[in-house]
Amino acid sequence: MSSVIKVASEKVSAVELVAAALEKAKKFAEYNVFTSLNEKAALAKAAEIDKKIARGEKAGRLAGVPYALKDNFSSREGKTTASAKMLENYRAPITATAVKKLEDEGAIMIGRTNLDAFAHGGSTENSYFGATANAHDKTRVAGGSSGGSATAVALDIVPFALGTDTGGSIRQPASFNGVYGMKPTFGAVSRYGVVAMASSTDTIGVLAQTAEDTQMLMGLLAGKDEKDTTTLDDFLAAAKSEKLKIGVISDFMGEGVDDEVAKLTKDYIEKLKKAGHQVSEVKMPILKYALAVYYVVVPAEVASNLSRYDGIRYGFRAKDAKTLGEIYSKSRDEGLMPENKRRILIGNFVLSSGFFDAYYLKAQKVRTLIIKAYNEMFAKYDVLVCPVAPTPAFKIGENTSDALKMYLGDIMTVPPSLAGLPALSVPAGKTASGLPIGVQLIGARRSDAILMGLAAEIEGLK
Ligand code: GLN
Repeated sequence: MSSVIKVASEKVSAVELVAAALEKAKKFAEYNVFTSLNEKAALAKAAEIDKKIARGEKAGRLAGVPYALKDNFSSREGKTTASAKMLENYRAPITATAVKKLEDEGAIMIGRTNLDAFAHGGSTENSYFGATANAHDKTRVAGGSSGGSATAVALDIVPFALGTDTGGSIRQPASFNGVYGMKPTFGAVSRYGVVAMASSTDTIGVLAQTAEDTQMLMGLLAGKDEKDTTTLDDFLAAAKSEKLKIGVISDFMGEGVDDEVAKLTKDYIEKLKKAGHQVSEVKMPILKYALAVYYVVVPAEVASNLSRYDGIRYGFRAKDAKTLGEIYSKSRDEGLMPENKRRILIGNFVLSSGFFDAYYLKAQKVRTLIIKAYNEMFAKYDVLVCPVAPTPAFKIGENTSDALKMYLGDIMTVPPSLAGLPALSVPAGKTASGLPIGVQLIGARRSDAILMGLAAEIEGLK
């Protein structure tokens, strides 16, 4: 059964549910899941909901269900830090549309979860507040950047959490922690109120314990929002179950992929076949350029989006800065993490005159070719399958001194982001040493429901 529905239908009060979640959050403090807990407000809200229910009023489809919020969503409850010193004491004057939608349905945010500062990273080690541990092995990373959200769901502190995914930040931590992670079609869910990373690939989605919950929650979150002009009309109505044509991206099944990752992916593919779907291998050689394209386009957008943190308008301001120039440089130097700065430098470099044509423009052209290659694939196939990441969760500290090695881990999640495609990370078992592995289902734009339906079908076969 869906864990959210189970929680919502349990014959316990909202106060009891929320108190239990908060207690678990504290019990697992050593995992460093939360940047802050929302204890007082959450309990007060739960009490309100219990009163509503007692009066026989409608309390929403998620009445009393506790959830965790990645700390890059604005909410008027508590601070929105993006796990950066720059926003350590920032109180947002608005509430993100996605958060508002959950609140309208009675869901209760029990805390903000840790991330790589400004969502730059794939391990949550770039957080100003320290790394988050993996739910299955405390010595390993949670993945990232939505690492806190993934560990919160995997430890069963909450049945679901919100995340953001620009190049894999929902899917990869979901894979590392053995939970579902849905990155929708670009524009499916409003980004209003979410701290911007790269505006042409940023998406909002959920990390949940079951495919059914993922489907239900995405249905609640999706839809047009006048505050985000990139949003699409809701298209997430449940897909009919039918026999699908599935292509396995063979480029991501061979060299450079951990043996156990490949084996568990193949096991999942066997299940797809057993369920009667038509599976064949496909080749997408263009995807080998996706990482290079991503690490030009995304830093360019990061550099522009982070220019607002100037030490003046809001956020951290260095104390000993005397001139205007010093305010900018010292505040940014002290307020941003090394990875943030690296991306700003790369971004400004590829956008600068003389290099724009050689890097940024070229990257955008290759991006168009990647989109074309996907379009051709989706003329023949309904769903594409590959692993989420080439390896299971790595050790905390293992890759921190090697940015390129870290970026290489994004090779499988970045391509769908560049094309705005929906992609779902599905738990596909564990390695011999007990580390979870996720398989990635990728679809054409607006085919989100097909992916979630397929995952639910295979989940039901277990
Ligand atoms: N790991 C990727 C990166 O570092 C993805 C980040 C994200 O999706 N926010 O850019």
